[in-house]
Amino acid sequence: MNPNSPSKLLIFDVDGTLLLNGTIVRDTFFHAFRHATGFDAKNSKIAFMGMTDRGIFRILLQLSGVNGDFEILFNVFEKEFFQRLSEVYPNDPGPYLLKGVPELLATLSQRDDIALVLGTGNIQSTCRIKLDKFNLNRYFPVGGFGGDYEQREDVITAAIEASNEYYNWCGNSEDIWVIGDTPKDVDAGKANGTKVLAVASGFVDKDELINTDADAILDDLSDLEQVLNILGV
Ligand SMILES: [Mg+2]
Repeated sequence: MNPNSPSKLLIFDVDGTLLLNGTIVRDTFFHAFRHATGFDAKNSKIAFMGMTDRGIFRILLQLSGVNGDFEILFNVFEKEFFQRLSEVYPNDPGPYLLKGVPELLATLSQRDDIALVLGTGNIQSTCRIKLDKFNLNRYFPVGGFGGDYEQREDVITAAIEASNEYYNWCGNSEDIWVIGDTPKDVDAGKANGTKVLAVASGFVDKDELINTDADAILDDLSDLEQVLNILGV
């Protein structure tokens, strides 16, 4: 192993793990979907938790019955989603950071042996708007993003590949932790052979997370010592 490469890779989900958004993101997503397709999907009962934006778009498009080239429509959607969100998110009172997140990231980022990376269902451009509101982009130079993949496990694979390149990450999958808030985060980590810390601070109850293959489950990331212990850092 390269002596300068980190020995532990931590892949963080965003929504429900680092922050919560209120209704602004969902509203803006539906606005952009309508802009791209003409279809109002606002009342669809689909639970989006743990899904990628690209995967959600695919399902809503099927639901809408709108015909058209997926890539062209997704591109129009993505541009409008970014444009509108960049206007409304920075000053919206709804979004907030989850407990313990600033302290945890500040602590982890001090360590040369730890690499921080994003593994999120978000499109990168809109993810960066969210993180920018709380000055968190500085911790996450690279990641895997849900604008590029429909399946979450591919997002995690991409996050690892981005870390190979950026951090010179060359460790084993058991030295990788995925930290996320839904069973899909757990499955995506496990599909890549990683450890998973599931947090019940987002969209899924602890009772449901207990039925997953998560290696550890916490209510949230507020107990710094405990989190560092679990991650073995
Ligand atoms: Mg999440």
